[in-house]
This record gives sequence, C-alpha cells and structure tokens, in this order.
Amino acid sequence: MKVLFNSEILEKSEVTIDMEDRGYQFGDGVYEVVNVYNGIAFTLVEHVDRLYRSAEEIRLNIPIEREEVKQLIVRLINENSVKNGSIYLQITRGVAPRKHQYDSKIKPLLIAYPLPFSDVSDVQQQGVKAITAEDLRWLRCDIKSLNLLYNIMIKQEAHEQGAYEAILLRDGQVTEGSSSNIFIVKDDTIYTHPANNYILNGITRIKLLQLFHQKEWKIKEQPVSKQFLLNADEVFLTSTTNEVVPITMIDEVKINDGKPGSFTRKIQQAFTELVKEEIRG
Ligand code: PMP
Repeated sequence: MKVLFNSEILEKSEVTIDMEDRGYQFGDGVYEVVNVYNGIAFTLVEHVDRLYRSAEEIRLNIPIEREEVKQLIVRLINENSVKNGSIYLQITRGVAPRKHQYDSKIKPLLIAYPLPFSDVSDVQQQGVKAITAEDLRWLRCDIKSLNLLYNIMIKQEAHEQGAYEAILLRDGQVTEGSSSNIFIVKDDTIYTHPANNYILNGITRIKLLQLFHQKEWKIKEQPVSKQFLLNADEVFLTSTTNEVVPITMIDEVKINDGKPGSFTRKIQQAFTELVKEEIRG
C-alpha cells in the first residue's frame, strides 16, 4: 500500500511515526474520510475545505496548499489503483517533547492512505437498529477532531447490543449519531439538527440538504425530542461511507412498521444519482 506522508508518496513499510507525535499522545489533530467511486474522489473539495476549517479551529497551520493536498490525494488514489473505497486523511500537530502546550513552530504531519472497501449495500437495503444514548461529548463537535473517545465508547456499546449506531441526545434532543448525521421524517417534513457546535456538519448532510432544497421538499433544521424520534414516520442516518441508511428500530421500538420507508428510498436513489452526476462531471 502507498501512503501519503506530508508531500511524499511512500510504501507503507517506509512510514514511521514518532512516539511523541501529538496525534498519538493527545489526539491533537483533525481528519477526513473521502469516498472514492470508480476511481474518483467524491466531494474532494468539500472534504479538503472542512479539513482546513477543522485545522484552523484548533490553530494548526497546514503547511501545504489546498490545491496540492487535492492533487496528492488524486495521486494517492491512482498509485493505489483504488476503484471503490475511501481515503483516510489526517493531520497532527507534529512531534514535540510531551507537554500540553506547544511551540507553534513544530511541523504538522499529514498522512493519507486508502481504507479497504466496506460493502454497505445490505444495510442500505435492509435498514439497521440503533440505540439512543446521552451525548457526553465536548461542545465543539463541529471540529472533525481525532479525539473520538466518547464516539468509540458509545459505538462499541451499540454494537455489543446488536445495533449499528448510537443516536445521541443532548438535553433530551437528538444531535447526531456517533459517526453519522440523523434525519427524521414526519408528515412529509424532514428534520435534522442545525449545523452548530453540537454536531459535525457532514458533507453527505450538506449535499442532501442542497438536494432537498432543489426538490422543494420540506426541511426543518431543528432538533427533535426522543419522543418525536420514536414516533417518526422514517429515520435515516447519513455519512460518507454509509451514504443513506434507513433506521428501522430504535431502543427496540419499531419505527413505523419497522421497514425502510418510501421517502428514505427516494432519498437513497436521489443520492446515487447525485454521485453519478458529480463523478461524471
Ligand atoms: N457526525 C459524525 C460525528 C461523524 O463522525 C460523521 C462521519 N465522519 C458524520 C457526522 C458524517 O459526516 P460525513 O457525511 O462528512 O461523512
């Protein structure tokens, strides 16, 4: 496997990470996952822009120009002959003797490599179970930080309970999933949490909201309660690697008749069309 290491593309065996990299010791860094369809990175511009925004928010100066990062990702995809799959990209603040505060002169480390293709067609088709859990994360969930401790704790909990995702609730209101955004359909209106510091503004979320506006579907970017969630007509999650996945049962309560709903099906189709158009254009 070929790995992007700052501006170089190296064999994985040539890559070594220092034990005092602040990403390793503090989770001091930010990341992205970009999907690849037919050899083409989908919404690469949006992902690279979000990477720079996250980095800016933690005052990490990425020493490479955006344009170059995009070109390097394209090269990485080609050199690994990725057809369908995804690229993991992270930047850490770099190596320094371990202490919390840092010298702004340390050199950030950018790493990217392909993740193995994960086939989500079954979950997209059949829908998944979710649990709800209190959102105990910090208050800057808009930053795509490497610090994912609560996200992984609660995802593990969901998996151990036979569920695919944990839907998080802050002060009784749905924020998002442990690694996805959540949409709720009720009476032909689509609800999702507004993009503020309580959620990560997913690229899939952004793309879908644009699509809903174009189609003049009713959207309300407002939080909903757990009661509203459980009484929804349809619920679905979105993320780069999952695209659009129906949620058919939450906390052992069936959503509607417990089958993927027709609105969710329409949205899945519309998303597939969008991907086709974008990778063609
Ligand atoms: N929220 C969280 C907490 C996530 O980890 C993710 C996936 N990275 C998302 C939302 C969805 O974001 P995207 O559509 O950009 O993958």
